[in-house]
Amino acid sequence: MKETVVRPLWRSFEPSQLRAAVRHAKAGGISVVKERQWQMLGDAGPPGEPLPLMVDWAIRAIETARWAEITDGVAKGLVQAAVTRDWRERVTEWIARDAAFEGPTAPFVLDCETCGACCVDNAVVLDAEDLKRFRDGGRADLLKRTSRKNGVRLLPLAREKPRPCIHLKELRCSIYPVRPNMCRDFPAGTEQCLTSREDLYGHHDLPKA
Ligand code: SF4
Ligand code: SF4
Repeated sequence: MKETVVRPLWRSFEPSQLRAAVRHAKAGGISVVKERQWQMLGDAGPPGEPLPLMVDWAIRAIETARWAEITDGVAKGLVQAAVTRDWRERVTEWIARDAAFEGPTAPFVLDCETCGACCVDNAVVLDAEDLKRFRDGGRADLLKRTSRKNGVRLLPLAREKPRPCIHLKELRCSIYPVRPNMCRDFPAGTEQCLTSREDLYGHHDLPKA
């Protein structure tokens, strides 16, 4: 089923353009301020609430351990995350890619049911709710098709490369009605989603809404 997601666009700014960087982030985009150390800025959302989904996953995308909400100054209300040197090249690619789109965000139409890219080479960890869903959904047989690693129950990947989830058949999930929470919760339109699509299809497939 097609869905439209609103994706934040990555833009770069010089330190002298901080106010413009703040405006872009507050409007839903992701700003990268290129000081000696690069800093990513995104909207932190309402105080005391979890970070907005796309900002949270943008921080996860650059795998940084250093991020914090900004509580005073012109950037108050934003979250700041360090872009480590290892991630500069990748972030530069995202900024170049997003230069084709105007504004702080852009809508995209994606169809998870005909994509399947994130089902390739990603381990799916099962929780108690997933196991119950298998049983309640008349698919107790799936319990026999799990594996364990360090005490964690997983959906196994196929042995051959590329190593998709064993339930992916011709790029469609064969257990879609009872698919695990990790699969349900993985947000389409994040950098992680786009990277999976690029890895599988070999290009940035970003159809406009
Ligand atoms: S890669 Fe993205 S669009 Fe494709 S199935 Fe996963 S979340 Fe959906
Ligand atoms: S269970 Fe379905 S949605 Fe989840 S990884 Fe496997 S094929 Fe993809």
